[in-house]
Amino acid sequence: MPELSKRTKSFTDSVIRRMTRVSLKYGAVNLSQGFPDFEPPKEILDRLAEVTKEDFHQYSITWGAQNFREALAVKQSRLMDRKIDPNSEIVVTCGSTEAMMAAMMTVTNPGDKVIVFSPFYENYGADAILSGAEPIYVPLIPPEYNFDPEVLEDAFRQHPKALILCNPSNPCGKVFTRDELMLIADLAKKYDAFVITDEVYEHIVYEPNEHVYFASLPGMWERTISCSSLSKTYSITGWRLGYIIAPADVVDTAKKVHDFLTVGAAAPLQEAAVTGLKFKDDYYRDLLKKYTEKRDLFLKGLDDIGLRHTVPQGAYYVLLDISEFGYDSDLEFCEALAQKVGVGAVPGSSFFREPVNNLIRLHFAKKNETLYEALNRLDGIRRVM
Ligand code: GLN
Repeated sequence: MPELSKRTKSFTDSVIRRMTRVSLKYGAVNLSQGFPDFEPPKEILDRLAEVTKEDFHQYSITWGAQNFREALAVKQSRLMDRKIDPNSEIVVTCGSTEAMMAAMMTVTNPGDKVIVFSPFYENYGADAILSGAEPIYVPLIPPEYNFDPEVLEDAFRQHPKALILCNPSNPCGKVFTRDELMLIADLAKKYDAFVITDEVYEHIVYEPNEHVYFASLPGMWERTISCSSLSKTYSITGWRLGYIIAPADVVDTAKKVHDFLTVGAAAPLQEAAVTGLKFKDDYYRDLLKKYTEKRDLFLKGLDDIGLRHTVPQGAYYVLLDISEFGYDSDLEFCEALAQKVGVGAVPGSSFFREPVNNLIRLHFAKKNETLYEALNRLDGIRRVM
């Protein structure tokens, strides 16, 4: 038989999604793959029920249903401080996963370099491989997860085509300050690179931190490809609704990439989600309040058990230090954690370029009762691990 493609040989399955399967196998409380176990907003679900009886069962326009793009343009124009054209500056995709892939394919040629901060969300590695680009990793240095501007400039000296910016960051919870973003912006301009953002946690930024949209910085609209999704903001990760917002010439190409990759996002789901895109400010305030409570509850629980952890400024992940347990492999630790303690986690090594094996990632996008159950189980960790 002929060999399978070389390009797919160099990556494994997603460890994040594998850990969900491991959690299911052991009946563990799944704090690995980041998705909520609480209901999406009722208004969106009510609209979904209606939509099934209406005429939304065939393809929508390939780059997104007109009313979805219009509602999204209104929402994001306000946030990004710029009038976004729903027709020429938006592509609706199947989750931000497709948005990021399409963005990479839109700007890179095989052999091009892209800067990726480490730790990073594991899809970026695969995105680079699939589009033939070569990542240059720039470390975010714990405990603050700041970057060294000199190291970043060294990376830019290799003339990358783009920098990938996950802000707020998955997994370390960093929210980039305006000054840090300005520094990146200056380098992007100086070395003439694009910036591809992943801003799916844009509405989960804890006070006093603030989310600054990279595209809204002076002179950055032209070179930014903003990717985001509705998954986290409206608790609908399974709906796979994401988007790219970028200048018309970039979107023009991204539309074609998207069209040939997937044709389009699910029409009935786009229609139902329009309800969410039209929510007023109080929805986003309440969402943040809910996640702030969950963060405080979960971090206090970890403190009470005496487990060392990061304090996220944004998103809903914590990195837990497992050095005290003396495991050589964080993957083995996570398997044992799911089996013996009954809590699912993601090994930190799947996010770091550097040889890190003393961290695991947990998320707290869960009902309070689920978080309490996980904390109860973790309370016994030193007896069994
Ligand atoms: N972004 C989430 C995580 O990091 C979910 C990833 C996924 O499986 N799409 O866990």
